[in-house]
Amino acid sequence: MTIYNFSAGPAMLPAAVLKKAQAELLDWQGRGISVMEVSHRSPEYIALAEEAEQNLRDLMSIPDNYAVLFMHGGGRNHFSSVPLNIADESATVDYVTTGSWSQIAFDEAKKYVRHVNLAAQTEETPQGKAIPLVADWQLSDGAAYVHYCPNETVDGIALHEVPDVAAPLVADMSSVILAEPLDVSKFGVIYAGAQKNIGPSGFSVVIIRKDLLATRQSRVCTVMNYQVQAAEKSMYNTPNTWAWYLSGEVFKWLQREGGVAAMGEQNHAKARLLYECIDNNPFYRNQVHPRNRSIMNIPFQLAKPELDNVFLSQAAEQGLIALKGHRFVGGMRASMYNAMPYAGAQALVDFMTRFAQQHG
Ligand code: PLP
Repeated sequence: MTIYNFSAGPAMLPAAVLKKAQAELLDWQGRGISVMEVSHRSPEYIALAEEAEQNLRDLMSIPDNYAVLFMHGGGRNHFSSVPLNIADESATVDYVTTGSWSQIAFDEAKKYVRHVNLAAQTEETPQGKAIPLVADWQLSDGAAYVHYCPNETVDGIALHEVPDVAAPLVADMSSVILAEPLDVSKFGVIYAGAQKNIGPSGFSVVIIRKDLLATRQSRVCTVMNYQVQAAEKSMYNTPNTWAWYLSGEVFKWLQREGGVAAMGEQNHAKARLLYECIDNNPFYRNQVHPRNRSIMNIPFQLAKPELDNVFLSQAAEQGLIALKGHRFVGGMRASMYNAMPYAGAQALVDFMTRFAQQHG
């Protein structure tokens, strides 16, 4: 039976990447040792690291005036690292809280920056939870940056346009990076915990416009200092070499699969299939405004919540696993990152249709 893993995390890696990593685990490049045992300062590892960066640059068309950092600490690291690196203690910064993750980022920033302005937040509307239109955001004059989360993993809420704002735009793309084409030049900083569309957890990627690299607060921990890590090519301290290797393999896989344009088409097709099933069947509902529906994380509720556990166990019997919604939201959540094939979405929709027929 094919297992389709709809888990929101930590990681969902393409089977082809895992198979290659398995084969290379004990013997990388015929050297008789694992890639984890190779010095990160050796020419062969540096070649691996540089190739991974170049492939990410090519995949995302990252302009030359941006640095790419491979860092420790996952996504949350940057909830503190962004204010510490990009804003003075006395600065004003704007936050848009669209769901659980950007709310945590907002609260964290208050530790490091005096004026943390809530510029907009998700609101209930008759058509579901919605992000206010960008034109209605209460942005501050002279803000050091505007922070938002384009895809809220827990809530399934997404902003599909890149906000046009005066201050440098900072985006937490942990659960949507590489999911579809993006104009990087519109951003000051993009950061992402690696574990959804890139590689293992505990690792992160930062794409930062070089003019923002001047460190603003001297108390920033040196390992998290973007300027230092850029100068040291992300090797100020020992990087997570295994995660970097796996991420590089995912980038190569993405290139073979047709890059982010092909991923975008497939991700939209998977999401469309599932939303159509939810919208056309009174047994299911999604509570997000159609304009803010995520293509990566799709929460839905059953008309009979008392059947949640039956749904989950019968789905698992069919190989459709980890569909339980986040405890904040309840119900179900289907996370369909790049590694989820279209056939997985189809199998889920087929199961949901049968389940609704039996229990509706
Ligand atoms: N931001 C978003 C959007 C996430 O989905 C997550 C984790 O899933 C995080 C931040 C936190 O990442 P980490 O657990 O790697 O710190």
